[in-house]
Amino acid sequence: MLTNEYLKRVYSEVEARDGHEKEFLQAVGEVFESLELVIDKHPEWEKAGLIERFVEPERVVEFRVPWTDDNGNVHVNRGYRVQFNSAIGPYKGGLRFHPSVNLSVVKFLGFEQILKNSLTSLPMGGGKGGSDFDPKGKSDNEIMRFCQSFMTELYRHIGQFTDTPAGDIGVGAREIGYLFGQYKRIVDRFDGGVLTGKGLSYGGSLARTQATGYGICYFSAEVLEHIAHDSFQGKNVIVSGSGNVAQYTAEKCTELGGKVIAMSDSKGYIYDPNGINLEVLFDIKQKRRERISVYADEVPGSEYHEGCKNIWNIKCDIAMPCASQNEMDVEGAKALIANGAMAVFEGANMPLTPEAIEAVRSAGLLYTPGKASNAGGVATSGLEMSQNSIRMSWTFEEVDEKLHGIMKNIFKSCYDASVECGRPGDMMVGANVAGFLKVADAMMAQGIV
Ligand code: NDP
Repeated sequence: MLTNEYLKRVYSEVEARDGHEKEFLQAVGEVFESLELVIDKHPEWEKAGLIERFVEPERVVEFRVPWTDDNGNVHVNRGYRVQFNSAIGPYKGGLRFHPSVNLSVVKFLGFEQILKNSLTSLPMGGGKGGSDFDPKGKSDNEIMRFCQSFMTELYRHIGQFTDTPAGDIGVGAREIGYLFGQYKRIVDRFDGGVLTGKGLSYGGSLARTQATGYGICYFSAEVLEHIAHDSFQGKNVIVSGSGNVAQYTAEKCTELGGKVIAMSDSKGYIYDPNGINLEVLFDIKQKRRERISVYADEVPGSEYHEGCKNIWNIKCDIAMPCASQNEMDVEGAKALIANGAMAVFEGANMPLTPEAIEAVRSAGLLYTPGKASNAGGVATSGLEMSQNSIRMSWTFEEVDEKLHGIMKNIFKSCYDASVECGRPGDMMVGANVAGFLKVADAMMAQGIV
């Protein structure tokens, strides 16, 4: 419950205007709860209408994406780009292709991205985009035609000094390749820095593929060490999802001594008490693009269960939700608590419902919000842009080392902010406040724009 009058007023205004945008409202509510702890120190913000401007995107682009399938049938999808805030740098944030994408989802992701990018300490503003296109079951040619159509509109809104998209759910190396090819063809320039997550042969960065997942584990390891004087060593871990973020979270977590015993996709989950065999999982997901159920057919001793929500009923020490927003509800959180889990480290963006966050925090589990823990992906996109600008490539080890350093710094900023707010170790407060203060400072300096 908000108590500050200014925040209450702005929240009611957002509710009145955008109340139907449930995910966006949820993200705003969560950030406002943390800002309550600092807002009294900044009466100048209200005078400058700072919070009103902060919750309103600078620009929203919505467009038609027509494409033809392999049988010659015409389909029309909807494309979006929300350019939310450019106070500290050009808009930056991924593109999501998933049937659930709508304006609310893109706005919530863009809003979170502002704070996440600020936490990386790199000069990147917040944006996000995507389409309700479903890449599942489409041929490579259909994916290519869709990406080309999508970029035929998007190209006029992006550029290395304005807005630089990247991947997200449903947008990986294949899609970025097709999007980049079409951009280059239209503008007739090799603007490497306009998209990140590119292939290594045309300006991509080593370790970008691994960065989000590795970064989540580097950040979580800091939390375990500095707040609980503990580590991943010997812990049973559940990593939900089995896409880019989940795969490399599972890989790094295993390297750090954890045992990943369960993973999922949108249809169901696998449980392997011996620890997930990542070689088999990567082959199923990256090469064969099959359902996760195939794992249980191929690995003796493992089980497959229909329905992904019940994954949280498995007893574990650490839960790392890495699939999608609101994937863990209060029932899932209660099951984890009842089974004695010690931590929930978010990997996806906003994977816990507000009730689940409340349950986890009040039960005293360690909790980290996605905007801090998964910031390694966008940070490494920033490193990809730097390499494109200086026309050099760093080695995997160099990029990984920089990523590790950035994640340590993000932990420190969040921790320091939590202490200043009188909530030592509260990573949600720390992430929201540390991320916001820098953006607020830049917005104040730039006048009413
Ligand atoms: P992918 O498309 O590679 O993988 C998504 C995974 O989550 C798949 O296993 C998918 O299953 C599953 N999934 C998707 N939607 C749902 C759902 N509604 N319920 C249950 N499972 C679902 O995406 P990413 O790994 O890239 O992204 C995962 C999360 O991480 C997202 O929240 C994204 O915003 C966030 N993120 C990603 C970054 C990146 O660099 N890629 C950076 C920072 C955050 P299925 O295959 O069956 O659809």
